[in-house]
Amino acid sequence: MKRLIFMGPPGAGKGTQAKNVCQEYGIPQISTGDILRSSIEAKTDLGLKAKSYMDAGNLVPDELVIGIIENRIKEKDCSNGFLLDGFPRTVKQAEALKVLLDGLGIELDNVINIKVDDEELIRRLLERANIEGRSDDNYETIKNRLENYNEKTFPLIDYYKKMALLKEINGIGTVNEIASSIKKALG
Ligand code: AMP
Repeated sequence: MKRLIFMGPPGAGKGTQAKNVCQEYGIPQISTGDILRSSIEAKTDLGLKAKSYMDAGNLVPDELVIGIIENRIKEKDCSNGFLLDGFPRTVKQAEALKVLLDGLGIELDNVINIKVDDEELIRRLLERANIEGRSDDNYETIKNRLENYNEKTFPLIDYYKKMALLKEINGIGTVNEIASSIKKALG
């Protein structure tokens, strides 16, 4: 049983590492980015509301993503734990998550923060843009996503440090090297 948050700037390798950890612990990976992208594809109300923010590399309004998590965490497959990938991204989201988990009588085990410097992130995101063709992986949008990260998400590192939940991981290295640092940190 593990209840985890994976944090880190766009391009840090959160998604890849999260997948490994979820397989290992048999817990669902809850990626707000993936849920939003599927909603856009399915042209749901949520997708229509989120699209313009995502295309510009801005954060989607807190209420929308908090709503996603409130519904998802109550689903049955989360009863043995879960990994939140890309949520929370603002202090307001983190506070809403705390209220939600307190209400359910559950606690987080760890928050993993994967650290990579901006120069390397830009290099990786531009490479991903060529391979995957994600519509939000172009230079302007990438710069905006990093700025948003530094301004709105970075303060969460302190928030979770104060709660004694944070584990910092060096995100430079091979996928296997980083996976083994995460394994060690999770104990
Ligand atoms: P990701 O796949 O995690 O990089 O997310 C892609 C995009 O989805 C982000 O640039 C945001 O526009 C949006 N998004 C995903 N998660 C959140 C969140 N927790 N809060 C606000 N926006 C989000």
